[in-house]
Amino acid sequence: MASFSLQGIPVSRGITIGRAHLLRPAALDVQHYLIAQEQVEEEVLRLQKAIAQVQRDLQSIWSELPTDAPTELGAFLDVHALILSDPMVSEAPLDIIRTRHYNAEWALVTQIDALSAQFDEIEDAYLRERKADIAQVAERVLKILTGTAHQLPRAMGVDERNANMIVVAKDISPADMMQFRDVSFTGFVTDEGGPNSHTAIVSRSLGIPAVVGLGNASHLIAQDDLLIIDSDAGVVIVAPSPLLVAQYRDRQAIFLKAKKKLGKLKKTPAITRDGVEISLFANIELPEDAHAAMEAGANGIGLFRSEFLFMGRTGANHQLPTENEQFIAYKQAVEMMKGRPVTIRTLDVGADKPLETHEHNILNPALGLRAIRYCLKEPQIFMTQLRAILRASAYGQVHILIPMIAHAFELEQSLAMIAQAKRELHAEGYAVAAQVPVGAMIEVPAAALSVAMFVDKLDFLSIGTNDLIQYTLAIDRADHEVAHLYSDTHPAILQLLEMTIQAAQKAQVPVAICGGMAGDIKLTRLLISMGFRELSMPSALLPEIKQEILNTNITQCRPTVKKILRSFDPNAIQKLLNQLRGQVCD
Ligand code: PEP
Ligand code: MG
Repeated sequence: MASFSLQGIPVSRGITIGRAHLLRPAALDVQHYLIAQEQVEEEVLRLQKAIAQVQRDLQSIWSELPTDAPTELGAFLDVHALILSDPMVSEAPLDIIRTRHYNAEWALVTQIDALSAQFDEIEDAYLRERKADIAQVAERVLKILTGTAHQLPRAMGVDERNANMIVVAKDISPADMMQFRDVSFTGFVTDEGGPNSHTAIVSRSLGIPAVVGLGNASHLIAQDDLLIIDSDAGVVIVAPSPLLVAQYRDRQAIFLKAKKKLGKLKKTPAITRDGVEISLFANIELPEDAHAAMEAGANGIGLFRSEFLFMGRTGANHQLPTENEQFIAYKQAVEMMKGRPVTIRTLDVGADKPLETHEHNILNPALGLRAIRYCLKEPQIFMTQLRAILRASAYGQVHILIPMIAHAFELEQSLAMIAQAKRELHAEGYAVAAQVPVGAMIEVPAAALSVAMFVDKLDFLSIGTNDLIQYTLAIDRADHEVAHLYSDTHPAILQLLEMTIQAAQKAQVPVAICGGMAGDIKLTRLLISMGFRELSMPSALLPEIKQEILNTNITQCRPTVKKILRSFDPNAIQKLLNQLRGQVCD
């Protein structure tokens, strides 16, 4: 096979070489063709066999359920088996083959589409939701028919092939990404997604090479194709020559060696050449990520994206996490950090992190009911979370961070609810830390332009540059079509950062950066010379940012940084940034 390469958007670091594992919804790839009269019964048999195979698979999953599995799980499998034996699913497509001569896949999809349309009409929400079960059952049958019914290998490094698996997909939802955490795979490649889409963020926090926004990769790459991902360059090479593989293996070895060397900095404090100490924090999505944060030598957790506890909950687990479940998760992170601060951001759902239970504005979700807006509309969900966070505060240093604040009343209502949660917990006899600092994310331009409106009521600020860029430049961060417009050094962004730090310094309130800019080594000198003293980033990036800080002299950088902040010429800004990075410090 001829080699070719694809250019996408880099979202992580490093190089990986492995075999493609395609994750493609089978329904999208169904072939449509008409069959001859004499082939009809053969085609009918093919579909019957696939349905029987899925029935057997469901039974075997049932019989292998551990004895302590939740009863809902069995019930869930029963529903799927029932759907599959319903004549509307198992018989009607056979009639379509016989009467219209459609191939088996087409016949099944036609019948499922017709059923789905009927389900859309149903008033009862529970019954309407069964449409998803029907789609899942049909998907299983289609995967058998199309021969794509591979399971993701679960055993880490059991054999050479599994250990070097690269997931290729149209898109992977952040919730699905979380499932891959237990699976052995060494890279991922998607057609969609932008540099700071939440899917990209999860891959970065897993520390594995990835390229997103490739447009058509999942159609150009075939199952088991050999791939090289050069994630620094955002390039995927398909079917590389042995010579190229050898060259990339060398580069991979150099990268891994450098990474190992950086690991030795774990206990070194991040102090610049001219003696300024910078606190480096980690961003985490799940409590167990705190382990990587400790390994990287983080000073604490600067951003715990708590919404990942709420997403991707299906089957027996589909309810939102209870107060106790959340409390256990937060307490786990707090205990793992051994007294270091843990900044728990309250639920930031919506946009590219939808809740399964939450209907959102499909036209413009990023501008819809997201983050604090959602929480204030659903006060019970918010109160449950605040109680869980406050209970965890008795086990270490907990900070509460409120996302997407834009209005004074949003902050006032949030603070009132935190105070109420504290009162309730005290009355119920729960321990709560005497001090639980509350901060807000500055990630909507309105907030950056009016920091003075909030700052007196807050203990700290944290700038979410991913959203600040999205909302300032009016580009959907998850849309690869506009990813080229995503610019973190646009003068408007630099001005907003500068305004925020000035206002925070005036009010003597600490201000961190927890968006992607904090982990971008090209910007480290700029940010710390502007006065930022706290940066929070994926654990995997922390060592190299620390190395850069150790090599920086802020006093020497300041004149160039002043010029950058005064400039409104993108080319000049870029030149000055390059100059800043190339500067040799003494
Ligand atoms: C941000 O917007 O920069 C941020 C840190 O939050 P998230 O990426 O989760 O939206
Ligand atoms: Mg954000």
